[in-house]
Amino acid sequence: MDNNSTFTLERQDNGITLLKMDVVGETMNTLRAEFADEFSSVLAEIKADNSIKGLVVYSGKDNSFIAGADITMLDDCETAEQATQIAAQGQAIFDQIERLKIPVVAAIHGPCLGGGLELAMACHQRICSDDNKTVLGLPEVQLGLLPGSGGTQRLPALVGLQKSLDMMLTGKHLRPKQALKAGLVSDVVPRSVLLQVAQELALTAKKAGKRKAPLVEKALESNPWGRKLVFDQATKTVLAKTKGNYPAPLKIIDAIRVGLEKGRVQGLAREAEHFGRLVKTTESKQLRNLFFATTQMKKETGVDGVEPATVSHVGVLGGGLMGGGIAYVTANNAKLPVRIKDINHQGISNALKYSFDLLNKKVKRRFIKKSEMQKQLNMVTGTTDYSGFASTDLIIEAVFEDLALKQQMVADIEANCKPGVIFASNTSSLPIHQIAANAKAPENVIGLHYFSPVDKMPLAEIIAHESTSDETISTTVALAKKQGKTPIVVKDKAGFYVNRILAPYVNEAANILLAGEPIEKIDRALVNFGFPVGPIKLLDEVGIDIGAKISPILEAELGERFKAPDAFNKLIDDNRKGKKTKKGFYLYTGKKSKQGKAVDEQVYSLLGVVPQSRLSEQEISERCVLLMVNEAVRCLDEKIVRNCRDGDIGAIFGIGFPPFLGGPFRYLDTLGARTVVDKLTQFKSQYGEHFAPCDALVAMAENEKTCY
Ligand code: NAD
Repeated sequence: MDNNSTFTLERQDNGITLLKMDVVGETMNTLRAEFADEFSSVLAEIKADNSIKGLVVYSGKDNSFIAGADITMLDDCETAEQATQIAAQGQAIFDQIERLKIPVVAAIHGPCLGGGLELAMACHQRICSDDNKTVLGLPEVQLGLLPGSGGTQRLPALVGLQKSLDMMLTGKHLRPKQALKAGLVSDVVPRSVLLQVAQELALTAKKAGKRKAPLVEKALESNPWGRKLVFDQATKTVLAKTKGNYPAPLKIIDAIRVGLEKGRVQGLAREAEHFGRLVKTTESKQLRNLFFATTQMKKETGVDGVEPATVSHVGVLGGGLMGGGIAYVTANNAKLPVRIKDINHQGISNALKYSFDLLNKKVKRRFIKKSEMQKQLNMVTGTTDYSGFASTDLIIEAVFEDLALKQQMVADIEANCKPGVIFASNTSSLPIHQIAANAKAPENVIGLHYFSPVDKMPLAEIIAHESTSDETISTTVALAKKQGKTPIVVKDKAGFYVNRILAPYVNEAANILLAGEPIEKIDRALVNFGFPVGPIKLLDEVGIDIGAKISPILEAELGERFKAPDAFNKLIDDNRKGKKTKKGFYLYTGKKSKQGKAVDEQVYSLLGVVPQSRLSEQEISERCVLLMVNEAVRCLDEKIVRNCRDGDIGAIFGIGFPPFLGGPFRYLDTLGARTVVDKLTQFKSQYGEHFAPCDALVAMAENEKTCY
């Protein structure tokens, strides 16, 4: 072993040997195929040494046990067989661990995910630290894959069929106590004694006691009929959720089923075979691209070579829906104190309630202690004047959508805060340069556009106007990242990026509705395409009035193609603003089962429509989605987004564009620019000028160019 070794053996006086994994030059441990030889020779050394009474596997990193496998190697696989080979190799090595004659204990601290958990499950016992960083899970499904190194076979044996399906089909992580309850670890101890307890366990040479399954679970899972019921139910749930767009979950179910019915050997063979095929699916490829893109973005500052300034105190203007959410992510995720200013106490208490409700839920689920909740709540304070604002470094403005009011906010902040304070506006439609028009220091004014609900939606658009300074950009990007957001830097033009590509998509859904297609059919078409909700339901969620407010701004700045159908004004006149007024396209009052699920038939008569299904789901989704793709290409051409990657991330994280399609630009590459131009041209002749393919797209088709 030399200084470049990933695995080191440390012999203890008590006869136990510690096997430490520490990938040189990396901050986190991840498994790589090239470690196989080194790992095998370490195992051979252990086998050959009769003086070793037990083995403890642990990580030399402070922040991770093993955070997963390095998936870049999968891109090098030219065939499914090669990927199957990688899985089979992992299985063989972990089998060797399992077959060691001495007790083997995994001492887990930090993330133990994917291949890391598969390794740990091959050990005879697992214990973990009680640290917040420690989580255990098999998240492969989120990359369109399955656990390929024995995970589909070992997890059900440890935690039962239903729990293992739940973990593998969702990819969710278990915290230490949940892992203990599930039977995945046999003890949870403070980190300071983790290695000591693990050694004691290895010395007692006790095999892990088999988990006592609850009676109902035992009755269901111990016989073929019960298991069939569980598998059938899991399949049904998967199909309802994925609409058949994601192949991995069904393969996970199949690999587990084969293992339970035909034994470990065949189960492992099926697992490796499925793994190989899944690696080569476009769905997995796109999900892996998405993973690489977000990882890359985490390292960027927004402006190359420009370091962010320190932000220690944040101010929020307006304690409404958005201000409350922004305050929460600032205190909870970024761990920064927040001062909220509203014109009245109601606004402040609304914002505080936002944090209280979310934290209270966490307490109830035992994710945090009450004392932790109190600590978090103390970080958010309110005022109706500017007291406490002198120490703020960055202000996020979330008052009403009104230009004069927002300009007044800039003036107030410049008068009441220290020089150099950044003013970040959460406007959804007003140009940032107009908000900055009367600013003394326009270089400190920027857009920071969140999406509702702020605590859940992962995207933030950072909008730099012409005189925004580079430091303001990088400081705002850094704060958004600390708040847990993936920021994209976009240009200051009407609708920025996300709302601009969303508008033609939603407007087309409205056109289709006005031509008589039933609302459920339109929404179903787009949900089956892969969106989380359909466009009409989305209008209800966001607010029909919000759409009506933004459309004229987009139309004035960008042209006729953004014109929302006039008939929609009838909805506003009817005070039909969507979910928030309990009156929209769907029903929100009456029997609970109908809440937001059944269409309010009155809408049809209001719009003068007699619903009748004429179009195929495919045509509906194509009309809406291709308009979005066309607008995304225009945005790239106009440099609204800096590159295709940001455009794809913006659409997936901001709108819910189907991740397995990789975003509008990756989807365009899949279809081919020529096909998209032809289809848009056909729609143009049928449905009007707004379908005209943009020049940049036509040029791509003519020159046979791709986005990536
Ligand atoms: P909201 O009506 O819920 O809240 C606005 C708050 O601002 C109110 O509490 C109000 O009392 C307060 N306010 C008004 N004047 C003020 C002043 N002079 N000083 C301090 N506070 C003042 O609105 P919202 O939905 O939270 O939206 C706020 C901003 O965020 C708007 O610009 C909106 O366009 C934008 N936005 C909204 C969404 C969304 O989905 N709601 C999404 C993205 C961006």
